[in-house]
Amino acid sequence: MAVLDQLTSQQAIDLENKYGAHNYHPLPVVLSRGEGVYVWDVEGKKYYDFLSAYSAVNQGHCHPKIVDAMTAQAKTLSLTSRAFYNDMLGKYEKYASEYFNFDKLLPMNTGAEAVETALKICRKWAYEVKGIAENEAQIVVCENNFHGRTTTIISFSNDSVARKNFGPYTAGFIKIEYDNLKALEDVLESNTNIAGFLVEPIQGEAGVYVPSEGYLAKAKALCVKHNVLFIADEVQTGIARTGRLLATCGNCDCIDKNCSGTPEVKADILILGKALSGGAYPVSAVLANDPIMNVIGPGNHGSTFGGNPIAAAVAMAALEVVRDEDLAENAFQLGELFRSELNTYIETSPIVNLVRGKGLLNAIVINDDEDSDTAWNICMALKENGLLAKPTHGNIIRFAPPLVMTKAQLLDCVSIIVKTLKQFEA
Ligand SMILES: *Cc1c(COP(=O)(O)O)cnc(C)c1O
Repeated sequence: MAVLDQLTSQQAIDLENKYGAHNYHPLPVVLSRGEGVYVWDVEGKKYYDFLSAYSAVNQGHCHPKIVDAMTAQAKTLSLTSRAFYNDMLGKYEKYASEYFNFDKLLPMNTGAEAVETALKICRKWAYEVKGIAENEAQIVVCENNFHGRTTTIISFSNDSVARKNFGPYTAGFIKIEYDNLKALEDVLESNTNIAGFLVEPIQGEAGVYVPSEGYLAKAKALCVKHNVLFIADEVQTGIARTGRLLATCGNCDCIDKNCSGTPEVKADILILGKALSGGAYPVSAVLANDPIMNVIGPGNHGSTFGGNPIAAAVAMAALEVVRDEDLAENAFQLGELFRSELNTYIETSPIVNLVRGKGLLNAIVINDDEDSDTAWNICMALKENGLLAKPTHGNIIRFAPPLVMTKAQLLDCVSIIVKTLKQFEA
């Protein structure tokens, strides 16, 4: 079979099943093209993408500005490794550091790698700056977290599917309840070996759990009081997804218009990935100020591909698009509209319990047992009706379209979603 032969959907699915490891359970749709908020399957059917590759495609599929930056750089210089300098990395590091208002950036490729990087920086800081005795540092994490799939990261997950039979696990993590300040205060007060607190500003994979108003700011204040690093995993919530540049963003020097009036929560270590590249290329990053980032020296950490010229060009273009097209503001406005439209439907709906979220990171909770297949069946029906979404844990469906959506498109999507949900009311 030649690479360029056009497959049917079933042929493509069969190939993946036979030759690919079964580490995902995809919706049975085979996509071959994307543009903006739309994707097309191999049979030519058009869909609204309501997952955006888990919020990696915030800028829309195949954004011309990002594709141009990527292809131009690919034709010029793709990879040098960090054994040598390249003429793109420094420009990108300056651009992104100023964009997010940090002193320095450490470039990696995937979200999980960036989380690992943040954990390493935090531990080294604990020993060399805070003065915790060697090998004693603890990092506080939250129950139902999702930070990626590496051995260390799954060590502090409480998702049994992600963890079981992958032990022995990495030590040095303490789990507390999410959105529980008392639990954080207790652990910080009872243990002097805490180096950092790793938190998602909204728990995305867990089902789009938005913490109480003020939780993040108060958690940060507790961290400051105890000289503990506040580490924000904004791999999914960052880059305008939640209607602000960052879900933790409160520093009003930055470009985010929706900052003012909200509590300032500046992370000590910021973790970005996914939409940092607009979905074009694996790009992730850790940002911190000098007193923290400077604990890392030559040989302490690295990645062959991290900081390569294509990644640098793509990330700069992706961030420019967010700013030029005002995507945070658009996500904010459309998110309000989406939840208000769905709430109107939910008032009389026997099938949906609630909608929650911020900006264009939202989820609906289906009125059925945790282990029922209703959410999956609704997603199958949504697919038939031209909209792609995926259940997260149990009976929850996440809705996260590209942020380049128009108001008319959003209202069209709401009508598809409501029409589909009504099919399940009987
Ligand atoms: C997706 C995600 C990650 C992991 O990113 P990968 O690129 O899949 O490794 C980490 N943290 C959060 C919050 C995520 O949503």
